[in-house]
Amino acid sequence: MKVRVLGAGIAGLTTAFELAKRGIEVEVAERRAGPALGCSHYAGGMLAPWCELESAEPLIETLGIESMQFWRDNFDVVEHGTLVVAQPRDTPDLKRFSRRTHQFEWVDEQKIMQLEPDLSQRFNTALFFAGEAHLDPRLVTAQLAHRLAHEMNVTFHFNTDAEALKGAVDWMVDCRGLAARDALLDLRPVKGEMLLLRTAEIALKRPVRMLHPRIPVYIVPRADHIFMVGATMIENSQASRISARGVTELINAAYALHPAFGEAEIVELGADLRPAFADHLPRLRLRGKTLFLNGLYRHGYLGAPALARRAAEFIQNGTVFPEVMREN
Ligand SMILES: Cc1cc2nc3c(=O)[nH]c(=O)nc-3n(C[C@H](O)[C@H](O)[C@H](O)COP(=O)(O)OP(=O)(O)OC[C@H]3O[C@@H](n4cnc5c(N)ncnc54)[C@H](O)[C@@H]3O)c2cc1C
Repeated sequence: MKVRVLGAGIAGLTTAFELAKRGIEVEVAERRAGPALGCSHYAGGMLAPWCELESAEPLIETLGIESMQFWRDNFDVVEHGTLVVAQPRDTPDLKRFSRRTHQFEWVDEQKIMQLEPDLSQRFNTALFFAGEAHLDPRLVTAQLAHRLAHEMNVTFHFNTDAEALKGAVDWMVDCRGLAARDALLDLRPVKGEMLLLRTAEIALKRPVRMLHPRIPVYIVPRADHIFMVGATMIENSQASRISARGVTELINAAYALHPAFGEAEIVELGADLRPAFADHLPRLRLRGKTLFLNGLYRHGYLGAPALARRAAEFIQNGTVFPEVMREN
C-alpha cells in the first residue's frame, strides 16, 4: 500500500510516522523548504492535557494522555510538570481554574520556592500539575523528520505543492493545516502570537502559566536561556503577522511574572494562524480516498500523535473512531 501525506507540519510528520511504522510506503509533499515551518514552528511545546481542560473538552485530555506517551517513548520530553500562578489579587482566577481541571495540587510559598526558586516571594499560592510535560517543537520535529527519512524510508518532497505530485497512490492523508480550507469549509484561523526571549537572569524548570483577567500568559523554558512566551487568550484574526499590541501585552505579562524579563533580549517575534473547527476539537474526515487530519487548534503537539495513530489504523484496518470522525 502507498500513501501520500500532504503537509509536513506536526500532523503530517506524526501521520507519516504511524503509517511507516506499520510497513506502509509513505511519501510526503511539503510546499515549504523543510519540515514544520508552518504553524508547528511557533508552538510552545506544552504537553498539558489537564491545564487545557480549563477551556477544552474532555476529548483533549484523552488524546493528550495518549500523545504524551508517544512523545515519551520516542523523543526527549521534559517531565517537570506545569506551575499555574496568579497575582494575589487574581486568586479567584486560580480558584476558577482549579474547578475546571484536575490532576493538580495546591502549593504554598515554600513549595513554590522548591519548584521555581526565582518565583518565590512573588506568588504565595499556585497549582502544580506534576504529570504534565513539555518539549522543544523545533528540536523534536527536526528529529522526527530525520528519523522518517533515514530510518523509516519515508520520501520527502520539499518545495513541492501537493498538486504537483501526480503518481498513483492508494490513499492520501491531507495534513495541510489551514490551507485545507479549500476543502474543509468550516475550518477557520485562530491567531497565536509568541516571542522568544533570552535572559540568564532567571531560570525556570517547567512551563509557568500566569492567570490574568485580560492577558493570561505562559512561559516555556528552552535550552540556552531561551524562553518562549505566548498568550492563552483566544484571538480570531486572519492576519498572521504579530501586532504591536500583541508584543506589548506579551512583554508586559512576562515582566509581571518576573521583572528580569524586562531586561531580556528579544530573539524572535512570531505569529501564525492555528487551524480550528468551531468547537476547537480535531477531526479525521473522509472524502473518497483522502483522509483529512485537521483542526488541531492549540493542541498540535498534544493531539497529533493520537490522531495520527487513529488515521493509520483506519487506513490499514478500516477501524472507525467515532470520537474524532464525526462530520460536525
Ligand atoms: C503561538 C502558538 C503556540 C502554540 N503552542 C502550542 C503548545 O504549546 N502545544 C501544542 O500542542 N500546540 C501548540 N500550538 C498549536 C500547534 O502549533 C498547531 O496545532 C499545529 O502546529 C497544527 O499543525 P498542523 O500540522 O495541522 O499545521 P501546520 O503546522 O501549519 O502544517 C501544515 C503544513 O502543510 C503545508 N502545506 C500547506 N498547503 C500545502 C500544499 N498545497 N502542498 C504541500 N504542503 C502544504 C504547510 O507548509 C505546513 O508545513 C501553538 C500554536 C501557536 C501559533
